[in-house]
Amino acid sequence: MLQMLLGHNLCLTLYMRIHMSCKRLFAKVREVKPATVNQQCVVYKFQCNLCDAGYVGYTRGHLQKRVDGHKQKSSICKHYCSKHNLNVPPCLSEQFHALTKCTNKFDYLIKEMLFIRKLKPSLNVQTDSIRAKVFTKGICDPLFLC
Ligand SMILES: [Zn+2]
Repeated sequence: MLQMLLGHNLCLTLYMRIHMSCKRLFAKVREVKPATVNQQCVVYKFQCNLCDAGYVGYTRGHLQKRVDGHKQKSSICKHYCSKHNLNVPPCLSEQFHALTKCTNKFDYLIKEMLFIRKLKPSLNVQTDSIRAKVFTKGICDPLFLC
């Protein structure tokens, strides 16, 4: 009886140690998030992992949410499909990097334009230009006096 009780106690101790180790392990795993998750209000760059193609954009929300948006209908999605005959990779967020933080819409547009001019990303199209966004998409901002 005593032996059975000791055995039971040992099992319980072992179970508790494993349980606590797992709990600590998963707590640490949960803390490790991709760098892009906490970025928001940024101009960002995407770099294809299979070729030199790139894309520059901005988001007022969290960058991770924007990355999820690019997994569906976007020039990045089209690029993987047409150029590499693949779906977007599951680890797409690793190819996104925040270039700079922004404070307002004017800031976004100017910084995005400057990075597009500097980096010349091949996946950006004419409609990504500041002129197209301000005048043809109907974005009317007092800063642009329109
Ligand atoms: Zn590519």
